[in-house]
Amino acid sequence: MRTLEEQWAAPEALSTPLIGIPAGSAVDVELRLESVHEGILITGEAHAELMGECSRCLDPIQDGITVDLQELFLAAAPEGGSDEERLVVQETVDLEPVLRDAVVTALPFQPVCRPGCQGLCADCGIRLEDAGEDHVHEQLDPRWAALAALTKTSEPGATGPEPKTSSDETEER
Ligand SMILES: [Zn+2]
Ligand SMILES: [Zn+2]
Repeated sequence: MRTLEEQWAAPEALSTPLIGIPAGSAVDVELRLESVHEGILITGEAHAELMGECSRCLDPIQDGITVDLQELFLAAAPEGGSDEERLVVQETVDLEPVLRDAVVTALPFQPVCRPGCQGLCADCGIRLEDAGEDHVHEQLDPRWAALAALTKTSEPGATGPEPKTSSDETEER
């Protein structure tokens, strides 16, 4: 068994739309290479810094991620044409797909800056935590807005039709 400690530069696309490992940034890798009957079993851990954006309030997120790596690299292609696509040791082993799978499945699909982030006000976009508990808008609901409009027009002397005083109308009476 051999152990390896390495630092890799992150390849492209170790990310989901909102969060990921920036390409080119450091990925610290600790690997154990074990010779087994079928080939080489590689297990280990990778650690990197994440950059992203909160899915609720859009604040930047900086966080770390540690993922387990495990892959069996076969010494030779399986005989009899197995359907299963297996990685085969050639001159070197390519761990990039292993790292990518581990990272992308471990990333939160909807990252948050911290647990319980309340996000932004749907009306004005202010962060709800900054706004305080009593942050409300008068027109919370379009139905209330319609109601408010009604109340306004029925107020005495507001916007109702002016009483007509033309001579035509007086004749009809
Ligand atoms: Zn947030
Ligand atoms: Zn608001």
